[in-house]
Amino acid sequence: MHEVSIVAQLMRDIERIALENNLAEVSKVKVMLGKMRQIIPESFEFAFSTLKANTIAHRAVLELSYEEIEILCEDCGFSEMVTDSCFFCSQCQSPRIKIFKGRDIVLMSLEGELNGD
Ligand SMILES: [Zn+2]
Repeated sequence: MHEVSIVAQLMRDIERIALENNLAEVSKVKVMLGKMRQIIPESFEFAFSTLKANTIAHRAVLELSYEEIEILCEDCGFSEMVTDSCFFCSQCQSPRIKIFKGRDIVLMSLEGELNGD
């Protein structure tokens, strides 16, 4: 279950960003999951709720969104969204395609309370 290691990394980012922005507490975390990464949302949420304990985000709500996989054909330049991982260009059947969307896990935003002083 690679969700745990992804969330662990995410937690380090959240704590660093919260610190840099003088947040006393994080109340909401928005994350975008690229579909290419095949994250199981339930596992991701479970890992988040477990790992957030004893962090600045211990009461934070997780909001997930998803990024579709988009490919670009290097032969004809055609780009399209795809749903599975068997990639070839639907226009020219070329296997020389580049995945340019849907590969990343992105921390979109943090909401929280600023430190009082
Ligand atoms: Zn093509």
